[in-house]
Order: sequence, then structure tokens, then C-alpha cells
Amino acid sequence: MKKQIIIIGAGPAGLSCGYELVKAGVEVDIYEASSYIGGMARSFDLWGQRVDMGPHRFFSKEKHINEFFITMVKDDYTLVNRLTRIYYLNRFFNYPIKLFNVLKNLPVITIGQILWEYLRVKIFSFKNPATFEEWVSNRFGRKLFEIFFKHYSEKLWGIPCSKIDADWAAQRIKSLSLWEAVIHAIVGNTGNKHKTLLDQFAYPNNGTGTLYERAADFITAHGGKVHLQMPVKSVMQDATGKVTGIELKDGTIKTAEHVVSTMPLTLMVKGLQNVPKDVIYASEQLYFRNTILAYLEVDSMELFSDNWIYVHSPEVKHGRITNFRNWSKELYRDKKTTILCMEFWAFDNDPIWKDKDENIAELAKKEIRFLKLVPENLKILNAFILRVPSCYPVYETGYQVNLKKVENWLDTVENLIPIGRYGAFKYNNQDHSILMGILAADKITKGLDTDLWEINTDIEYQETARIKDVLL
Ligand SMILES: Cc1cc2nc3c(=O)[nH]c(=O)nc-3n(C[C@H](O)[C@H](O)[C@H](O)COP(=O)(O)OP(=O)(O)OC[C@H]3O[C@@H](n4cnc5c(N)ncnc54)[C@H](O)[C@@H]3O)c2cc1C
Repeated sequence: MKKQIIIIGAGPAGLSCGYELVKAGVEVDIYEASSYIGGMARSFDLWGQRVDMGPHRFFSKEKHINEFFITMVKDDYTLVNRLTRIYYLNRFFNYPIKLFNVLKNLPVITIGQILWEYLRVKIFSFKNPATFEEWVSNRFGRKLFEIFFKHYSEKLWGIPCSKIDADWAAQRIKSLSLWEAVIHAIVGNTGNKHKTLLDQFAYPNNGTGTLYERAADFITAHGGKVHLQMPVKSVMQDATGKVTGIELKDGTIKTAEHVVSTMPLTLMVKGLQNVPKDVIYASEQLYFRNTILAYLEVDSMELFSDNWIYVHSPEVKHGRITNFRNWSKELYRDKKTTILCMEFWAFDNDPIWKDKDENIAELAKKEIRFLKLVPENLKILNAFILRVPSCYPVYETGYQVNLKKVENWLDTVENLIPIGRYGAFKYNNQDHSILMGILAADKITKGLDTDLWEINTDIEYQETARIKDVLL
């Protein structure tokens, strides 16, 4: 099939799309702004070990996506026993929350408040919960919301939970009621497990980026091209508005029949022609949150056994810590140290985003000592700071109205397919972005009329599956 397609971005969405297209014999050129393959899901070497950009747990029950995983990784993966806990009030709580563990860890008076608030909300629940706060309070009661959801979510999003859209909760949290939790606690998890209750995940031995490095190799081996360090300035259109190609930052024009874009949706819209004023306005209301990753190398092989820890404690600024020693042994190789990665979140104008790397490294060291997760007698040998801009599309209440306006207008632009986490302004995991990539390719090669905006909006999509049923 002689079609010339340009893909903007070599992350999971762009590469899975490119992979499917070259398989169908289509000519593909991928333009990537950075010098890396894999976008936010890349892996890289650090201090003689391998790390990801924060924790990257792969999970899907979709056949297409698991086939992509297995085709790329083959049997070069480890089944990791998942341990993720919440650190709060100087204690560890199981995550997903387990009733007996909560009861054991909290004072009797707090447990009384939890039960009272839970019963209260069953009688006086919010009718149509629109915010994260209302949604979670409806499910768990106000007290559990305050303990287990409020602090972390506000650190992550940088806005009060009363302004975070209920969509985020609906996509990410199973509506597990206290009664279900009681039953689970008594009889165990005998029924179907929700994804958040999954206790194992398949992890590519050499880091999550393996998937994308191999996809890029496949693409180039089959005639496609992946151009690194070639940022795209804008998508080009003809007089009728139909897409004709792209303009690179250096001014070079590249023509194509279709453009698949995974660059930030808001930036892409800015570069288009004749965008109606209300669409520009709607697009300008959409915004992203940045992440700062602080990697620390600690002179110890055994710190804690979690894959990652959610740090709810409001006394510290960071919100999550990944321990790469607990993923696959290929990551740490023969090294006798542990690499931790602490996540701080910020907007562009927040002082921490503009702060010097040395200061952020010092803050990270201070906070990890404060939590006593790295005792004073263990040396912190190295620190490395990595800034990840625009990595969380902020689901502020009402964002759907603006997003819908942008989506509807973009649907009228012929031959343009926006996909991906910031490409489509969807809080995607890798699996959603891969699915978008595969379906975007199908749209082009098979002329399908799939609505890609719908991916990752369906609550059911996130539902339960046992890993052995879907993957192995
Ligand atoms: C800290 C953190 C933890 C995460 N944990 C998990 C997890 O546990 N499990 C999971 O499944 N997912 C996780 N994710 C999400 C996962 O990384 C993303 O879903 C996935 O990378 C999105 O893929 P994408 O292709 O849509 O976007 P990206 O990975 O962002 O790729 C987009 C690519 O486009 C490039 N680009 C942008 N602008 C331009 C331009 N103008 N020109 C050319 N190229 C451009 C970028 O450089 C990038 O390479 C996590 C993400 C973060 C940040």
C-alpha cells in the first residue's frame, strides 16, 4: 500500500502505530523531538544500572495490547510480585487498601470516625458526584477519603480534590465498598480481582522501554524511519484545511497523506490554521502538570521490599518512591547499591520546577531521611534530577466540555489523527496509548471509523483480569 504517513513522537502511541503501519506495508516516518525512544515509558542507564521514568507497571486485558507486549518482549520478562504500600502517619498501609490492615494501623477513635462517616454517606450521599472528593466520599465515606485519597491527590494534581473531576476516580479506583472489603478480608479474594488488586505484573527484564526500543528496531528493519532530535513545529494544511504534512522546528517541510500526532494536544491545536476562536479558547483551558524525578543511589541492597510506595504524608513534598531493586535483577545487574526514584509534581510557575537540580536533590535526600526509609548510617552516593514536562493532563472539573469542543473540531480536520497521553489529553497508561496507536493504524490502513477519543474514557475498560488469563 503506497501511503506516506508521518507520526509525531516516538513514545508508546507513536511506535505502536508505526509498528502496525509498517506491518501493513505503509511508508512511515516518525519524528521525535528528543534523542530517545520510548517517550515517558523509556528506560535508561544510570550509575551502571537501568531505570525507568518512575514506576512503569504494564497491565492490560486487551488481546491486541498483550499481543504487542509478547511480540516485542517474547519471554524476556519477569513476573513481578507486586507490593505497593501507602506511607502515612509514619506507618505503612497496604495498597490497595485492606480492611484489617487499616484497623490494625489506626487508633480506635479514627476507626469509629471511618465507620460513622461511611454509614452517614450511605444515607446522605452526593447525588451526581462531579468531583473526585464527592466520588470517593460516596464510596468510602469522608474520613477514609481524607486519610487515603486527599493528600496524595492534591500533591499530584496541585489543585483541591473539590476541583478534580470525578472521571479520574472513576477510571482509577474500583468502587470497592467497605462491605466488599469486609468480605474480602474474611473469605479472601476468591472472586474476580480488580486490576488495582492484581498482585503480579509482567515486567520486561531490561526495563519497560524494551517494548519501544524493539518496536523502533522493527520499524526501521521494515523500511520505516525513526528520526530523533527532530521536533515538529506544526501540522501543515492546504487551503481546504486538509492535512498535507508537517513543518519541523528548523523550518523543513515534510509532506504526508496522514499525520498521526502524539505531541501535546494544546500545542498541536495552536499550530493549526483557521481554528475557530471558541476552540482556541477551549484548548487554552486544558493544562498539564509536570513531574520532577529525583533519582538517588543508596549504598545498600535492602531498603524496603515495595516496588513503589505512595507517600501521603503531607509533611513532605514528594508523593511516590520507586525502588528499582525490586523489579527485575537485570536492572541492577551486579551492582550492590539501590536506586530510588522520588516523584515531585509541579506546574511551570511553581518555584520547585524552576529550582536548581542541586537544591531538588538536597530536598529529596532530606525527605527520604525524614521518612526514615534511608537510615542515617547508609550513604546516599549519587543524585540525578530529571524533569518531565506536561506528563499529566489535568482533569479539572469541567475539562470534558472544553476537550469535547476541541475533539469535535479536530474531527473535521481531514487526515489528522491525534492520539496518546498528551496527544489526546487522556490520562493514559502505556496500554491505552498502545491501543490508540494500533487503532490509529487500523483507521488508516482499513479505513475504519473508530472513535479514538473514546479510549480510556470507558470505566469498564479498566476492569479486572488475571494476568495469566490475558498474557501468559
Ligand atoms: C512518573 C510516571 C509513571 C508512570 N507509570 C506508569 C505505569 O506504572 N504504568 C503505565 O502503563 N504507564 C505509566 N505511565 C504512563 C506512560 O509513561 C504513558 O502512558 C506513555 O508513555 C504514554 O505514551 P504516549 O506515546 O502517549 O506519550 P509519550 O510517552 O509522552 O510520548 C510522546 C513522544 O512525543 C514526543 N514529542 C512531543 N512533542 C513533540 C514534537 N513537537 N515533535 C516531535 N516529538 C514530540 C515526546 O518527546 C515523546 O517521546 C507513567 C508516566 C509517568 C510520567
